[in-house]
Order: sequence, then structure tokens, then C-alpha cells
Amino acid sequence: MTVLASSQAVSEVVPSGLASPSEAAKRTPVYVPPDSPELDHARDVLRRTFGHADFRGMQAGVISEILAGHSAMAVLPTGGGKSLCYQIPSLIRPGLGLVISPLIALMADQVQGLRQAGVAAERLDSNVSMDERADIWRRIDAGEVDMLYLSPEGLMQPWMLDRLSRTPLALVAVDEAHCVSQWGHDFRPEYRMMGRLAELFPNVPRLAVTATADARTRDDIRAELRLQGAAEFVDSFARPELALFAERKRGKGHDRVVELVLERPGRAGVVYAGSRDSTEKLAEKLNAEGVPAVAYHAGLDKAVRARRLEDFLEADAAVMVATIAFGMGVDKPDVRFVIHADPPAAIEAYWQEVGRAGRDGQPAEGITLYGSADMAWAGRRIETKDAPDEVKQAQARKLRQFYAMLEGVTCRAAAVRRYFGEEGVDRCGVCDICVSPPTGIDATEAAQKALSAVHRMGGRFGRGRLIEHLLGKTKDVTPQEAQLPTFGIGRELSQPAWRDLFDTLIFEGLLREDPNDGRPLIGLGDVEGVRQVYRSERRVALRQMVEAAETGGRAGGAVRKRREGKALTIPAENQVLFEALRSWRKEQAQAQHVPPYVIFHDATLAEIAAARPATLAALGKAGGVGQGKLDRYGEAVLKVVREN
Ligand code: ADP
Ligand code: ZN
Repeated sequence: MTVLASSQAVSEVVPSGLASPSEAAKRTPVYVPPDSPELDHARDVLRRTFGHADFRGMQAGVISEILAGHSAMAVLPTGGGKSLCYQIPSLIRPGLGLVISPLIALMADQVQGLRQAGVAAERLDSNVSMDERADIWRRIDAGEVDMLYLSPEGLMQPWMLDRLSRTPLALVAVDEAHCVSQWGHDFRPEYRMMGRLAELFPNVPRLAVTATADARTRDDIRAELRLQGAAEFVDSFARPELALFAERKRGKGHDRVVELVLERPGRAGVVYAGSRDSTEKLAEKLNAEGVPAVAYHAGLDKAVRARRLEDFLEADAAVMVATIAFGMGVDKPDVRFVIHADPPAAIEAYWQEVGRAGRDGQPAEGITLYGSADMAWAGRRIETKDAPDEVKQAQARKLRQFYAMLEGVTCRAAAVRRYFGEEGVDRCGVCDICVSPPTGIDATEAAQKALSAVHRMGGRFGRGRLIEHLLGKTKDVTPQEAQLPTFGIGRELSQPAWRDLFDTLIFEGLLREDPNDGRPLIGLGDVEGVRQVYRSERRVALRQMVEAAETGGRAGGAVRKRREGKALTIPAENQVLFEALRSWRKEQAQAQHVPPYVIFHDATLAEIAAARPATLAALGKAGGVGQGKLDRYGEAVLKVVREN
């Protein structure tokens, strides 16, 4: 049984009569009416401990299921509040709530946040000393710990399993559960072992959560984590605050990235780059332009990495330039933009990465730069992987689907949501395609010339050389080449227009680019497709990219200007208090060595600045102010309000 969000309804329970055979085995989730005592209790914890007024989306459904002692799977979009789905049942059910999470940074962040809210949360990872460990176990045995965060490797050590088998557990939550799927973009072999959790803890409800899983990945999660009978909750993937843009790379280097960042002054952002070297270079370039940017990648010394992460998390307007290896740990809620200096290789990864912008629900942007060379490299990496052929084929298909989305002419958000199996999806109205729909020009005749030139030249040349050939501009042309019927046949198009067309043909699979160690060669692609173009049975359309660039139709042009200033606006009369609250928060954060947002989000401070509460009770009404924070910071905040 699957609970799916449709665009119109909040949530929809598919009647079991309509379930597919594979779904027939899945159990119907317990339907808990809004006034059930269990859910009321959970709502009470939500208000008291976390300071939120009510559940969002599918949280109530998932939590009810776990509170009833059943396992579940939840696919909720980034920012959808997955963590509360296991945090609240951990606090309500007797025993320790166990959370398995793949990244130390993410665990640290959550544990810090929970402690701020007064929850006894601990983590055990390689950073925890022997003494601290002994103390944590002592407190677990004494029943003083609510939640324990572990890495999958940490969990699967025999002594750990042995220890846990003697500990009463409230639940086992598996975060980033899509990592279990070997078809996916993010497969982690150590996740495979977690199927054993079912036998190790047969009476403990298990919850798999992820922000990204297509139908096949969901089936994999179910099979691998032995969640066959578990209810499945799939929320809508709509992210109305997130505007998506994509544009083809132009020119050399990452100048365009610098331009895009400079157009967004005073905002926090993440830039993803393909290599360690390019993260360093980009950060340097940004620094030279006065942008507080830091590079972050796995090759850095651990201490340097920790410091840079801290700098980024604590700053208001810093830019993190990172490799994709990093990032699951970036839970900074006020990231206003994510820029792909180099693109990922599947919609899952794309969605996860751009999804890191705007977790606080305020307007944010996801901008992706891509080129046919990127697709070629990614294709090559898949081909040379040490993996079964079918896995490679599945990944190559994901790669093509991703580029089809980037190159496509339909709303980007809608394309992504359909890819994840969502139905009845409307256009988002804010992506580049929605705002300025690209016009296509028929380029079938030019495509025939290009394909035939590639054919005549025997697939031994790169695109620059092929374009010179089409334009009849080849230097020192040999008599043989000058004799070819395709030589100089394409003078009607400019050099940039030919480049676009070659890219289009590559994206459509009609040409194939062999990276050839950085000196790419172009050959013919899909034989049947090429034949159809020759016979004019298949049309090739060229998006008017060059013109669009000149009229500012790209990200950063008209589209962005329209949205400018929409990020968390503080009315002038609240500005002084808001800034005072922020500097108070900064001092607190520095004293405790935690990121400012684990103390209070900007949105909470904005609410306080507007309400100017005079009493603790009034302060407690602001979103994000639970009892724990009220006890801890209430008086101090009231003082800041009084004095500003
Ligand atoms: P994700 O699903 O991406 O892991 P989180 O659990 O980190 O999301 O939650 C994202 C943000 O939404 C957090 O700042 C959290 O405090 C907030 N949030 C979660 N649930 C609610 C709710 N019911 N009401 C208000 N804010 C919520
Ligand atoms: Zn759109």
C-alpha cells in the first residue's frame, strides 16, 4: 500500500482494490484520525520540544505508523521534515531511537540541533574518544539517552550489534535509504548489510527515509531492507520556492560561475565543481572578486575541512565550492543558491544537490551549467565502471534522461517530478523554461550536413575541426579534404550556431563524443536515428541559445531580476531588532561552537522581531521556539527585544 501525494489532495490513500500485485503484499497504513490520542501526544511533543505548530505533509502519517509499532518507508522532499518522522517516535516510544546516517557532518548537525531542543541525543563515530564512548554507553544503559546516531559501518561491527541486542530500541531509522540501491547514483556497499536489521531487531519498527527515490529505487529499498510489508509514504516533490535554471556552458573555464555568484551578492550559496582542483581555482577566483568563498573536498586535511565547514555554516553570505563527494552534510537552511559549475549524472543526484537550496522554505535558485563534453565524460565513467552490464545500462539511461531534461523545453520542476513518478503535475511558473519558453528553429537540413561531414571525415576529428570543414575554413586543407562534398557546405551558419547544433546532435544521441583524454573526437551515434535524419523522417530543432544569451534570457538575466529581493524580507521597522537578535545568536553560536541556525533559524528571528514578545509565553508562540529553547534562551531573547 502506497500513500502518494497528488497535486490537489494533501495525501491520498490508495484503496487496496487498486493496488498492483506487488503492492498487494504491502500493508495498509494505519489511518489515524486527526484526534487520535497517539497523534495528539505526538503533536504535543512537536509543539513543546520543537516549537512547531502542526505536522506537515506526511509527517503525521509516518509517525502514526511507527507509533503503532509498524515499519515504514518515507520519501519526502528535502526540507520536508524527514528527521522529525523518527525523532518524535524516538521520544515517545520506550527505548533508544537508533538512526543510521551515512555522513558524520550530518549526524553532528542533527545531534547539535536536538541538544538545543533539550533532547538527549548522542553519536558514536570515529571522532568520539574512548572515554566519551564509555560514558555514552553508561548513560544508554541507564536509559538516559533518547537517540543514538551511527554510521552504517559503525552499526555493523559485531560488538556494536551485540551491545545493541541488549538495549531496548524504540526504532531503527535508516536515513538516505536510497544509498542501498545499486542501480542508483549513490550506491554505498555498506548499506547492503542493513538487510540484517530485520532479523537482528525483529520487533523494532524500522523506518527508511530518503528525499530521492524513483519507483525502482523504492522497490530496491523495500527488498534490501526487508520492508516488504511496510507502508510507503511518497510526498509530492513540489518545491515552489526553488527556481530551477539550466544553461549550456559557454567559453572556457568557470567565468560564468563567477558572474552568477557576483549577481547574487550577500547570499549564501553552494557551488558544485567536478574536481578538487577546480574547487580550489574557483574559490580563488571568487575570493579575488571579494566573495567569501571556501573550497571543500575530500583531499583536504581533516582539520582544514572542519574549519571551512564551520566558516561556511556560520557565515551569512559565504559560498562553499565543493566536489559532489561532499554535501549530504550541508543542512544549512539559508542556502539561497546552488550552482552546478559541472553537472551531476542523474536526476536523482541533481535533485538532491539543487534541493539543498532553500531548505528554510524561502525563495532559492538551482542553476546548472552543462555541456556535451560533461555528458561524454560521465558516459565514459559509467562505461569503465567495475559493475555488472545491466547496472551500467541503467546508469547510462539515467544519464540520458538527465540531459534530456536539461535540454528539454518543458518545465524543469515538472519534468523532475514526473521522473519520480508524480502524477497530475503543473508547471512551476518560475523556472527558466516557464519564464521564457525557448523557441526552436528547424535545423534538420544543417543536421544532415553535420552528420554527413562527420561520416566523410571518418570520426577522427574534434568539433572545432569539423566546423572549420563545414565552413570551408580549414587551414592547410589537404587536396583530398577540399575535394569532399561536405567541405564548405555549411557557410550559412555561424561558428557558434554550429557548436550549438553539434551539442544538440550529441544530446540527442545522433553523434557520439569520445573524450579521448581531453581531445574529444566526434563520431556518428545511433545508426537508425542518423538514417531517419538523412531521410528527413526525423526533424532536428535547435534551441535559440545564442540569441537568448544576448537578450538576457539566461539565469541571472531578466528571470532573476524579477525574483530579486524576495528572499526573507525584513520590514524596515524590524530591521534593528532583527540584526540585534542575529548578533546575539552569533555570540551564542561561537561560544557553543555550533552553527547559528541550530540555535534559531532566520525565519524564527524574523518572527520574533515582528512580534516583539514581552513575555516567555508570547515568545513561545514563534515558530521554532520549543520549551527547551525557551528555558535556555528565553530570558536572553526577551532582553534583546527590550533593548532594541
Ligand atoms: P529533511 O526532510 O530535508 O531532512 P528536516 O527534517 O531537516 O528536513 O526539516 C527541514 C526544516 O523544516 C527544519 O528546519 C525543520 O525544523 C523544519 N520542520 C520540519 N517539520 C516541521 C513542521 N511540522 N513545522 C514547521 N517546521 C518544520
Ligand atoms: Zn517551470
